[in-house]
Amino acid sequence: MKNRILFLSLFIVTMVLFSSCDEEGNLNFFTVEQDVEFGEEFHAQLLQDQTYPIIPEASAPEAYTHLRRIRDALLQSENIRYKTEFSWDVYLIDDPETLNAFCVPGGKMYFYTGIIKYLENEAQFAGVMAHEMAHADKRHATNTMTKTYGFSILLDALLGDDPALLADIAADLALGLGELKFSRDHEYEADEFAVKYTNDASGENDYYPKGIADFFIKMGTQTTSLEFLSTHPDPGNRIDAINTVWTELGSPTGSTTDAIYVSRYNEFKSSLPSK
Ligand SMILES: [Zn+2]
Repeated sequence: MKNRILFLSLFIVTMVLFSSCDEEGNLNFFTVEQDVEFGEEFHAQLLQDQTYPIIPEASAPEAYTHLRRIRDALLQSENIRYKTEFSWDVYLIDDPETLNAFCVPGGKMYFYTGIIKYLENEAQFAGVMAHEMAHADKRHATNTMTKTYGFSILLDALLGDDPALLADIAADLALGLGELKFSRDHEYEADEFAVKYTNDASGENDYYPKGIADFFIKMGTQTTSLEFLSTHPDPGNRIDAINTVWTELGSPTGSTTDAIYVSRYNEFKSSLPSK
């Protein structure tokens, strides 16, 4: 028994040593490859689910071109750690009533047509996309899973009670990802890095990071029944935090209502299938 306890302690210490911690100290028992696998699993389930009507690329090629153009600009950021490891695939969900977007582990991102139509310029939309990218790059979903399941996974894996446990958890995660609520800390971190990504991309694309704050200002004037606010709470303090980050970075502060933002964004909006 003594030996077993010793072995157990050593095993746990080893697991903790080998599990990754990012620069912000977010502990994660899962591997980067598992993030990618969970995302693939979720996507496969999503394709079977009528709740998420994905617009096929062939139905809206121009809209997908706009999405990828904005994504590629943000991916230039040196602050994105898993630039090559993650797929960063983008998808449109045909639902003009839903003002939301989400991202799954491994970088796949989903944007409801409702939020694209609701926003007014590309800076705001780039802010939303950058925020979702940050949740994926900081591995917030598997960090949350580590907090929820981490220790029991270690014990069960060690004792061999339930070899299918990881698969079950992956399935649970996949079912709940679209509704996943991140912690306050995760939301603030996603905002902070969204500012950094847009700041890094701002040279060629004029993605003034203040567009992220503009987005919350716009959302904040709406009713609290908006889906984005139910999964992304507390807009007021976040506006202040966002403004602090871009001010400290010395980001460009051009007007987010500049003609190029609006005209290019209007082209994007009008390329969406009308419903
Ligand atoms: Zn968020």
